[in-house]
Amino acid sequence: MPVITLSFGLFEANCHIVHNGRDAVVFDPADDTCLVRDTLAAQGLTLRGVALTHLHADHCLGCAGLTEATGLIPIVGKEDWEDRSLLLCKGMCFGMDLKPFSAIPVSEGRFSWGGLECEALHTPGHSPGSLCYYFAGQGVAITGDVLFYRSVGRSDLPGGNAGQLMESIRSKVYALPDSVLVYPGHGPATSVGEEKAGNSFCPAKA
Ligand SMILES: [Zn+2]
Repeated sequence: MPVITLSFGLFEANCHIVHNGRDAVVFDPADDTCLVRDTLAAQGLTLRGVALTHLHADHCLGCAGLTEATGLIPIVGKEDWEDRSLLLCKGMCFGMDLKPFSAIPVSEGRFSWGGLECEALHTPGHSPGSLCYYFAGQGVAITGDVLFYRSVGRSDLPGGNAGQLMESIRSKVYALPDSVLVYPGHGPATSVGEEKAGNSFCPAKA
């Protein structure tokens, strides 16, 4: 499979490694940089990039350590980066050990890491700068806390908006082919077609 998932912490945040057998990108290094690096080494993968689906602390606890170890700086949606003090302070309240880290703010568009090509889709609603990442070549999408298996992300956190969240899912994620496998920020994987048919929180038609 082109995706390896590791789950971390109190909130069981998913860290996904997307790869093509050679090159790899890590999404949401939620914690324990050593485990991420050991997994890459065990699979013989070369880390080409680090990316965040959004800027909530439970998804970025490993950013500082991974950058220190690899020199790679994560990309993040620019609206989240502008609001970083607001979005990240929430994590401090839960007593998470979030070390300061650098990130490169980006907008939606195409990215390539080694032989991996992906399209970042701006999907606000859970946070203002949430990004979903679609890998057409691998047939997978990393959806962060926007779309879950049979559920959707919260919209009651700072910068959240329920209407925007539904619009993001319908216009961006549900627009992908039904066969695309969806890897959310928490919980099990699913597919676009399964969620369009069975997600009662966000039916395919409003
Ligand atoms: Zn979140």
